[in-house]
Amino acid sequence: MHDIVVLGGGPGGYASALYAHNFGLDVALVVNERPGGTCLHRGCIPAKQWLQVAEVYSTVRHASDFGVVTSAPDLDWQAALERKGKTVEGLVRGLEGLLKKRSVTIVNGHGRLDGPNAVVVSADEGEQRVEGRHVIFATGSHARSIPGYEVDGERIVTSDHALDWPSRPGRVAIIGAGVIGCEFASMLADFGSEVHVFEVMDQVLPGTDPTIARQLERQLNRRGVRFHLGTSVEPPKIGASTVVVPFGGESVEVDVVLVAVGRGPNTEGVGLETTKAELDRGYVVVDRSTMQTADPSLYAVGDVVAGTPQLAHVGFAEGIAAVTHIATGRPAPVDYRAIPRITYTHPEVAEVGFNEQQAAEMGMEVETYTHGFAGVGRAIIIGQNQGTVKIVVEKDGPIVGASVVGPQAGEMIHELMYAVGWEALPAEAAAFIHGHPTLSEAVGETLLTAAGRSLH
Ligand SMILES: Cc1cc2nc3c(=O)[nH]c(=O)nc-3n(C[C@H](O)[C@H](O)[C@H](O)COP(=O)(O)OP(=O)(O)OC[C@H]3O[C@@H](n4cnc5c(N)ncnc54)[C@H](O)[C@@H]3O)c2cc1C
Repeated sequence: MHDIVVLGGGPGGYASALYAHNFGLDVALVVNERPGGTCLHRGCIPAKQWLQVAEVYSTVRHASDFGVVTSAPDLDWQAALERKGKTVEGLVRGLEGLLKKRSVTIVNGHGRLDGPNAVVVSADEGEQRVEGRHVIFATGSHARSIPGYEVDGERIVTSDHALDWPSRPGRVAIIGAGVIGCEFASMLADFGSEVHVFEVMDQVLPGTDPTIARQLERQLNRRGVRFHLGTSVEPPKIGASTVVVPFGGESVEVDVVLVAVGRGPNTEGVGLETTKAELDRGYVVVDRSTMQTADPSLYAVGDVVAGTPQLAHVGFAEGIAAVTHIATGRPAPVDYRAIPRITYTHPEVAEVGFNEQQAAEMGMEVETYTHGFAGVGRAIIIGQNQGTVKIVVEKDGPIVGASVVGPQAGEMIHELMYAVGWEALPAEAAAFIHGHPTLSEAVGETLLTAAGRSLH
């Protein structure tokens, strides 16, 4: 009997397995592929590697803006694909080494819960039963589609396929302008593909501060992305080498459709019915202070959890919370308020805490303060001085959220994460001086304004 059996080897599952060593717990990790999950194999890491290829390509194409004269760059798709493979392989191997070093027992195969304290694992060699005093359920999620757009991996694809495209697609329709849809739109626009993005809501990155999202839309639009917002697509006409996507009396012809309409939980066929765990629209309901399901020895973490963001670092945090509760008996809940939400488009978009709209929906009385990148020295030096930092402050109270669109917004958001997490007053956060010349000075200037003063 292990102390913990973890079912699923993505960020939620492997973080749980790794963290348990801090308490000397004995762990078995059941996984149906090499550890790493969606994040390492077909999510965060390969997607960001492709975005980096796009950034390098775009930088070289525009090198003459900086007085560096080159011939037009060639995009060696095969070499880029290989680099993506190497990055993933290196990280997966590193993770496997770490799990081994922490003495985690890896059990390969498809796992199915058999009550709250056991997982039955089926593999080519047969079945085995792995028992634990506690089980952490972390089977993750899969890409969803919409009626009429049955995924065939060729003409109608999801991000799983798009990360392994054998060559640059010429014309692409992306359905969904959420994080994944926008990241692919940004990357493909930089590669010179024709990109159409369809979104049923009336803004890109639904849920993000609309003024910030609008700036991303404008910048992608300038790079050639055609957005069709507030638009539902109708079932496609699939030809031998093209797809026609009809919408509102019009249509576009493309070579491939990338469906990016969200992800659903992997909670079917995994034995949840043998436990007392409750589901909400397929997601596992947990007590968020402990990550326990209705069956006290069964925990759930990561993308399968009902109502928490589907992000790798949320999986890490929930794994830590579950293991801490198992080891100490004390709740150590995740502070969801201070979780950064980052879109790695060019420019990046990042938020933490409540944006202005969310604060208003919660009935909070807030004030907002902004500072643009236009006059920020470092932003001008790197040729990316479009964007805005926006800070949301509770009236006569602390900083409750922030939204940033601009270069390296995903790095910058972390200082605002501390401000939100520690409920800093604007004057407290503004008391510190940022290095010059840095992009972060835009944050410093916004904090200063929020504190009732200003410099530039
Ligand atoms: C294109 C893309 C880009 C993304 N980019 C980012 C990003 O930049 N930042 C970020 O934070 N998040 C990103 N995400 C989301 C992130 O990948 C997920 O939130 C994260 O991987 C969820 O972790 P998890 O452990 O819950 O599940 P998963 O990563 O889905 O892992 C679950 C694992 O369990 C295995 N498994 C499932 N069922 C069983 C079973 N019955 N038996 C055995 N094994 C099983 C699966 O095969 C998988 O290996 C991205 C996702 C995609 C698709």
